[in-house]
Parts: sequence; C-alpha cells; structure tokens
Amino acid sequence: MILFNDFLREHKSIGEEILQAISRVMQSGWFVLGKECEEFEREFSKYVGSKYAVGVNSGSDALYLAIKALGISQGDEVITVPHTMISTVDAITRNGAKPVFADIEPETCTMNPQEVEAKITSKTKAILPVHLYGHPVDMAPLMEIAQQHDLCIIEDACQAHGAEYKGKKAGGIGTIGCFSFYPTKNLGAYGDGGALVTNDEVMADKLRKMRNYGQAKRYYHDFVGINSRLDEIQAAVLRVKLRYLDGWNERRRKVAKLYYELVSSTSVIKPVEKEYAKHVFHLYVIRHSQRDRLQQCLSNQGIQTLIHYPVPVHVQKAYGCGGSLPVTEKICNEILSLPINPWISDSEVEKIAQCICENC
Ligand SMILES: *Cc1c(COP(=O)(O)O)cnc(C)c1O
Repeated sequence: MILFNDFLREHKSIGEEILQAISRVMQSGWFVLGKECEEFEREFSKYVGSKYAVGVNSGSDALYLAIKALGISQGDEVITVPHTMISTVDAITRNGAKPVFADIEPETCTMNPQEVEAKITSKTKAILPVHLYGHPVDMAPLMEIAQQHDLCIIEDACQAHGAEYKGKKAGGIGTIGCFSFYPTKNLGAYGDGGALVTNDEVMADKLRKMRNYGQAKRYYHDFVGINSRLDEIQAAVLRVKLRYLDGWNERRRKVAKLYYELVSSTSVIKPVEKEYAKHVFHLYVIRHSQRDRLQQCLSNQGIQTLIHYPVPVHVQKAYGCGGSLPVTEKICNEILSLPINPWISDSEVEKIAQCICENC
C-alpha cells in the first residue's frame, strides 16, 4: 500500500520532539492564548515576511475573520474561484456576502486575472485568490486590478506555506493572508489550526479581539466576536514543525521533479512551475482524459490517489448558482492528485510512475 499521507512516518521522524513540546505545555498549566501562541505568531509572521500573525482555530475561520474584519457583509460581493476547497467560498457566504466566480487558467489551475475584471460591479469589495496545490496565483495583475478599483485582496494560502511569488511568500502579498494548519497541509498541527497574516497593525489588533469574543480586556467587549483560537498545544507543535518546513518543501519539490521526469513520455499533463513561482507541491496534480480509469489502475496496485476537487463550487448543491466556467468544468474531470509528502521514498514514486507509464 502507498498511502496518500502517512503520518506514522512523520511520527517516527520527529515524534520525540513533538512529545517534548506537548509536555512543556502540559507542565505550564496554561492552554489557550499564552506564550506558545505568541511565540508561534512571531515566528510564523517572520517566516511569511509579514509584520503580524494571528493564530486561530482553522483556515476556515481565518478566511471568515479576514472577510469580517474588512467589513464585508450583506450586499457586498467577493470575487473568488470555483476550483477550490469549499471553505474558501463558505467564508464569503457566512459573512452574508455573495461569492462571484472567476474562471481559472488551465496551466496552474489558479485564478485567471483576465477573468476577474469583467466580474467587478459596484458591489465588489474584495478579490479572494487561492494559491491552490502550492502554486502561487499570478498576483501582479490582480494587485493592479485591486488598486484601480479600490478592492482588498485576501489570499487563501491554506495550501501554500512557503510558496513564493516573485520572491515574496504567498500569503504575505495582499491585504490579509489566510493559512490552515490542518494536519495534511505542508505545515500541519496535530488537530485543527489556522492563522492570518497582515502588515496592518490596526487590522491585526482587530483580528486578535475578534478571535476572542471581541474582547479588548477580560470581560470588556468592543464588538461581537467569536471563539477561534490557536491553542497552546497546537502552537507548540507548530513551532517544532515550522523549523522543518523549508526542508520538507524541498523534499516535496524533489519528489515532484522525479515524477516529472518519470512520466514525461506519457500522455499525462504534468503540473508546471511558472517563471514567477516557487511551487511547494502541497499536491502533485496531473491531468488525463481517462482519469477515472487511471485512478482505478493505480488503486489496483495499492496506490491511493485523490481528486482535488471533483465538483466545482458553483455547481455544488449548496451553491447551485450554475453559470458556465469552462476551464474549471473541464479540468475537474481530468485532475488526479498523486501521493506527495516529505516521507514518500524514491522507490515508491518510481512504482507509481511505472503504473502510470503502463496505462497512459
Ligand atoms: C484546507 C483549506 C481550507 C480550510 O482550512 P481548514 O483549516 O480545514 O478549515 C481553505 N482553503 C483551502 C484552499 C484549503 O486547502
């Protein structure tokens, strides 16, 4: 069996260090909003190259709070992509605003800046691009559009810890960047977690209150907030794992390179890395016209693959707003995510590639 993610291998590699970090929190007797979260916020903001980071309970909450903190609500529109995890879009809807979908570009499967301008109305307040699969969105044209129309940019960097756009870290480019630390992400906690990053001090302060019942001082509430905090145990785990992130991303890039070389003679469409990008391969997503057959062949060999994502958000039952987004609708029938993580071995990648070569 080759699993998509194999956390026991991670545990074998750094389990001892993680246990020490967890034990440190237990012995401190302090579990929510303490030193570990503060230190992690400092370390993570430095890593991303933003002035401030605010730890929250999940990537979903990070996105929700980003939109809320920007004052976006009923009657407003946010332009995003339909090819993403549904949570990106739910964050808009949960704030009472309306998601407006721009199609993606087929090479990177991320927001096509040329599709955005036509979607802008007098109600548009923000653009929400997603650095999907670990490849950054082409941000420069988006920043220009945002500037021209006085819009905010919220980056969904939940799959892009360490990815770079023209030398700048994904998440640290727009108004606010949102990260998830769900266990399977490139930087993952041992439970749920998330963070926002920003260079705006007033915004960071607002987000800190918002995640904690709108509380400025204990039992004094400036506005209605929520309970969404990165707890001390998760923060301590993330502090350990952050030190390994660059090395793990390098290993992912090596695995991607190996896949690329080994399947180069097949009819499979391989992921690209644009000249402006540093890809961190959260996912290694190939495309093939006979995707379902290929997935079955791999499964018969004990190789687990996934599809990110089989049904675009704009045709999900929950949204069902229809409309035609041809690139998204085409590629969702062709994409297939192969196992990629820091612990997969060269020989496992060779086995997977061989199975692809025999079937494509
Ligand atoms: C994982 C993910 C989220 C949501 O993060 P959670 O921590 O699971 O809430 C949002 N957007 C994208 C693109 C993601 O991959």
